[in-house]
Amino acid sequence: MLKIKTIENIRLNSQLALKPDYLIHPTVSGNKFRKLKYNLETALLENYKGILTFGGAYSNHIAATAAAGQELKIPTVGVIRGEELISQIDSNPTLRYAKSCGMHLEFVSRSAYKSKTDPVYLEQLLITFKDHYVIPEGGTNELAIKGCEEILTEKDHSFDIICCAVGTGGTIAGLINGSLPTQKIIGFPALKGHFIKQDICKFATQSNWELCEDYHFGGYAKVDSKLINFMNEFKSTYNIPLDPVYTAKMMYGIFEGIRSGEIPKRAKVLAIHTGGLQGIDGMNLRLKQKNLEEII
Ligand SMILES: *Cc1c(COP(=O)(O)O)cnc(C)c1O
Repeated sequence: MLKIKTIENIRLNSQLALKPDYLIHPTVSGNKFRKLKYNLETALLENYKGILTFGGAYSNHIAATAAAGQELKIPTVGVIRGEELISQIDSNPTLRYAKSCGMHLEFVSRSAYKSKTDPVYLEQLLITFKDHYVIPEGGTNELAIKGCEEILTEKDHSFDIICCAVGTGGTIAGLINGSLPTQKIIGFPALKGHFIKQDICKFATQSNWELCEDYHFGGYAKVDSKLINFMNEFKSTYNIPLDPVYTAKMMYGIFEGIRSGEIPKRAKVLAIHTGGLQGIDGMNLRLKQKNLEEII
């Protein structure tokens, strides 16, 4: 299996520490490693012929799955949203990287992609990709949550509040299940929409959590100059890079929460850095096209 590197929390100031989970593996980053771990183990144990999963053009999950497949020598298939992207493999850092890891990229129309959880559609895909182990978009399933339950360790019991970025909700569900009932887990959704709460409830075994929905910056993968400035300042100050889709929005929200007092001054806070740094290059290409400030 893939090896996890041991990491220590980094203290940012008297109140706030950061868990650099993005450093647990050189290519299979952060929470995507956690979510893949038991899924890959199962696929290998049960002799599946490959891994098939889904994602968009800049997906951290696609990049992580491709890298993991290369290292474990198991074939991977990425079903990618958007047929037009087939001509952009070489100009898109994520797709180029996934391909260089040996991932087979299967481009489908946006309407076909919408059927990504439909059993009939999956059956059809598995006719082409026989005996492949299917992992849903974003990597969230029961085994993924089991993996995310391992993010927090006993050493983290001293924190009052644990913060993470939220996409599909799998990571926060694992954190909730792995936390003490006296701790509070605060999730910062990176996208608009209220369906996330129900998804978290499906998997969470405790109710010591809440969502702070004020810091999606307009929606998934949307950024503005305030956020980019914040990321660059954060990197200059702490020498820690943030990703523009998830961790930057979480960290911005934490700083605002501390400043406003919504996060009490006496509360000890742990922010989980879930990774996603492969997304910086793709975001910078888009910022450059729009003549906007880039991520350093
Ligand atoms: C995918 C991702 C998330 C969101 O994880 P979910 O389990 O989908 O909520 C958070 N941070 C980073 C860096 C990610 O890549």
